[in-house]
Amino acid sequence: MHRIRVAVDMDEVIADTYGAMLNWLVDRHGARWSTEALRGRQIFDVLESDVAEMLRTAMHDGAFFADLPVIAGSQAALSTIAAHCELFVTSAAMEFPNSLGPKFLWLRRHFPFVDPLNIVFCGDKSILAADCLIDDNARHFTRFAGQGIVFSSPHNVDVAGYPRIRHWDEAITVLSETFPGAL
Ligand SMILES: [Mg+2]
Repeated sequence: MHRIRVAVDMDEVIADTYGAMLNWLVDRHGARWSTEALRGRQIFDVLESDVAEMLRTAMHDGAFFADLPVIAGSQAALSTIAAHCELFVTSAAMEFPNSLGPKFLWLRRHFPFVDPLNIVFCGDKSILAADCLIDDNARHFTRFAGQGIVFSSPHNVDVAGYPRIRHWDEAITVLSETFPGAL
């Protein structure tokens, strides 16, 4: 059968941007939030405006993205996906233009099996032509022609209406259920 095309987001899906943002806030401002406070809300929505602005400034310096931890299980899962499907890594990196270089190097370091030509840095993800998009932000699914699959993050726990991957360990099962015979 034809190999399905799987697009996978970076931030909060394979790169722990969320943890890095929380660490940055703790280091700089001693701020702490409970998981409950962040449930269903983006970090930027719970910050005071001046702190949000400082965090955005830090993220606009692309170095923020250079050494993000890899999300557990993502390398093994993407390796399996790449063996059976057309794998693309797709990031709306234009939100932080200086992140493009660091993000590319990060992918080469941690996901060397992803062909550089299968890395897509873009703005609006509705331009993507793929059978599915694994992403923590469901807003990308509304104009996306394929199947959106939510990757769990505290901000999206209440998002319904899409298949959900809670941890990379269950990704192959979820993909197999969504696309029978694809893996
Ligand atoms: Mg993301």
